[in-house]
Amino acid sequence: MSAREIHVIVVGVSVAGIKVAKTLATFGKTGGYPNLRITLVDRNAYHYHALGAPRSIVDKEFGKKLIFPLSTLLTPHEADPYSPKHRFIHAELTSVSATNVILSDGQSLPFDYLVLSTGARNRLPANLRSSTLADAQEEAARMHDTVARAESILVVGGGAVGVEMAGEIGHAYPDKSVTLVHSGPRLLPLNFKPAISEGAVAKLKKVGVTVYLNEKISIPADTPFDCTIRPLTLTGVSGREYTSDLQILVTGTQLHTEYMESLESALGTPLRDARGALLVNKYLQLDSPQFTNIFVPGDVNNLPAGAKFALKAAEQAASVAQNLIALIKAPEAGKPAVLKPWDGSLMNLILVPIGRNMGVFQGMGLTLGNSWWGDVMARNMKGKDYFLSQKEKDFPPRKP
Ligand SMILES: Cc1cc2nc3c(=O)[nH]c(=O)nc-3n(C[C@H](O)[C@H](O)[C@H](O)COP(=O)(O)OP(=O)(O)OC[C@H]3O[C@@H](n4cnc5c(N)ncnc54)[C@H](O)[C@@H]3O)c2cc1C
Repeated sequence: MSAREIHVIVVGVSVAGIKVAKTLATFGKTGGYPNLRITLVDRNAYHYHALGAPRSIVDKEFGKKLIFPLSTLLTPHEADPYSPKHRFIHAELTSVSATNVILSDGQSLPFDYLVLSTGARNRLPANLRSSTLADAQEEAARMHDTVARAESILVVGGGAVGVEMAGEIGHAYPDKSVTLVHSGPRLLPLNFKPAISEGAVAKLKKVGVTVYLNEKISIPADTPFDCTIRPLTLTGVSGREYTSDLQILVTGTQLHTEYMESLESALGTPLRDARGALLVNKYLQLDSPQFTNIFVPGDVNNLPAGAKFALKAAEQAASVAQNLIALIKAPEAGKPAVLKPWDGSLMNLILVPIGRNMGVFQGMGLTLGNSWWGDVMARNMKGKDYFLSQKEKDFPPRKP
């Protein structure tokens, strides 16, 4: 048992942040470190289970369930509920120094260890913009109602999320006109087999979605594309015109890591790449010898695009948590911590539901494109609830 006070701050409480925080809180409670304090910081008061967004735009009740309060995330992990060690702060990280984080509410918090898991931003309806839980519930309902009212919907971007969105809308609303336009030669990431892309096109067709490939749409910079009804005609490089009253853009994510600017100027070296991704070493520490106590798991780091999935973010977070535990235990052990690199070589799979009954799958040596087995896998492994029941296990039970 160690009486040492150790303060870990986790900024960004989503897939990666939740995994690190819960692993550390359990370690503090059961591993002999009762004075390990965890401060969670997020700009939103809730966690949004974004994986379920494609279903939420066609199923309002399901959408409500994707939103979880962050304030009670670690409550079950308190060693003494009457003397809580952990807390949640609803604020935005604005700046990082070598020893402190500065938050949008003006607080400056010192840390022994810092986890930056601030992820990446997507356009509506793939993410929500609200800050409070009540507003998020309303916003999710508004996304649903907008899709319900639209008669013609254009989805731009044929990655997994675009395919899922188009498939869900096509399945739920057979009478709407749904078009999916993709700039690449085939749907879904190119590191998966062509049979997966072909299967996706065939199955989208079955739910009434028209797919255009090799088509780059010219997107007007002054239009917000915020999931509101806006009749618009957009033109592709082919010259074809796409008229719709709702446009859903799923064309990539944005990083907002301006909070690193002051530290970068103090050091005189960049800590981010040109996209704004935080540079990491093989242990997922911020890639600077001064900051071995700052870890960066998940979508915000500069690992390649193939690592930008919830599965990978969670794997990285598990690795970061184990390295943090090794560092925390080192003084009592009387020897330096031995850190383990994140090998990044773990399972590579894709599982894409297309509506409620169909889908494609590649992984574990199987390629299930335009086949009945693809439907079975996608429906049973993901299409039922987009992993919501697994996510629910991360949080205390909801109040009825
Ligand atoms: C619609 C959709 C469907 C997806 N489906 C799948 C799927 O089926 N399978 C899969 O593996 N992956 C999927 N993904 C990708 C997956 O969601 C991401 O890879 C994963 O969420 C990354 O987790 P993260 O913790 O790194 O960051 P994020 O989930 O992006 O979370 C970042 C957190 O940081 C907070 N934050 C950001 N900036 C600040 C700041 N300055 N101060 C305070 N807080 C901040 C945010 O509010 C957020 O809570 C999907 C993504 C989307 C959008």
